[in-house]
Amino acid sequence: MTDSVMQTYARYPITLVRGERLRVWDDEGNSYLDMAGAIGAAPLGHAHPRWTKAIHDQTDALGMVSNLFDTQPQSLLADRLAGLLPIPDARVFFCNSGAEANEAAIKLVRKHGLASGKPKIVALEGSFHGRTVATLAATGQPSKRAPFEPLVDWFEHVEAGDIAAMGAALAGGDVAAVMLEPVMGEGGVHPLEPAYLQAVRALCDEHDALLIADEIQSGLGRCGYWLAIEHADVVPDVVTLAKGLGGGLPIGACITRADLAFGPGEHGSTFGGGPIPCAAALAVLSTIEDEDLLTRAHEMGGRLRNQISLLAPAGLIEEVRGRGLLIGVQLTRPLAHEVVSAMIEEGVLATEAGADVIRMSPALIIAPEEIDVAAKALASALERVASAWEWTP
Ligand code: PLP
Repeated sequence: MTDSVMQTYARYPITLVRGERLRVWDDEGNSYLDMAGAIGAAPLGHAHPRWTKAIHDQTDALGMVSNLFDTQPQSLLADRLAGLLPIPDARVFFCNSGAEANEAAIKLVRKHGLASGKPKIVALEGSFHGRTVATLAATGQPSKRAPFEPLVDWFEHVEAGDIAAMGAALAGGDVAAVMLEPVMGEGGVHPLEPAYLQAVRALCDEHDALLIADEIQSGLGRCGYWLAIEHADVVPDVVTLAKGLGGGLPIGACITRADLAFGPGEHGSTFGGGPIPCAAALAVLSTIEDEDLLTRAHEMGGRLRNQISLLAPAGLIEEVRGRGLLIGVQLTRPLAHEVVSAMIEEGVLATEAGADVIRMSPALIIAPEEIDVAAKALASALERVASAWEWTP
């Protein structure tokens, strides 16, 4: 470990050197079950043979060209992703991360809205949309924004789930779009209720505003659907994807209706949609399809929630929530960091989503036995932290 890396993340003290399926090894030879799953960015686990082969084949064939030329992997991937939005003629913009996908979405709805006198975007309190200037302004977490303010003033935040507040925000007629995560990941893994999402869609239609679904954490099978918003039977106007898309390589996408799409010179990215990440993403999508990983995410997610509820010591967990394999365990005390550290000692990796939520977003290929190992490790980590901190129900 070196001090040369900016410590923008509060890291756990292990150095990982190798991975296979859901197992990773550190530089001292210890192995761990990876329930962190790169916060959803490793949907096929580690070194999945279809993913590594796709990357090897593509690096041998064609590594990088500029976006001034078409490539087969990019065209194929665009066709696949356009098909995720149930509208004719969807268009895809490729970039390299979630924040960039959301930047594209924000620029796109701003351009459309400004043309009709609608400069504002409504987002949700507690949301997370990225760390760039505009996506940070969109993020509904004041503590993350504070050191950088004033940021752009295009965003108004309303309470998630409060449809009256959303209605009031849209009533002024100056809103270009509503931006939301169907399952709010970083904010603590809070799935939005289908009725709320349907009501937001109806309000957007009524007030001629667009709906952006940030599916960067929730999309591509993670929640048991290609898009988590399908659970509510709602069709957004713009969808953003990243994390799981490249199976571990950096790629993001912003998908929208043809009439909203950017034209030449309006947006761009040197690396966006390069042949190698696109080939990796095609392998991810085909594997999800061929191995029916949407069903697996539903089933294994249900098993994980049940096992945790069954095994966890009474009184330390307030709620186990989530959709598919995006699971949040709400603790009764803000000891998530201590619990995740104790889980690592038990040989299982997980992440925190706030001070009092343990998040698990493992590879979608997870087996039932691995679910059981993870639930047991969480239960014993909870017991150990509870006795160290005099944490009683
Ligand atoms: N949007 C959501 C919902 C996210 O969960 C994240 C990352 O956690 C982002 C946007 C930002 O993605 P990235 O870190 O790839 O820029």
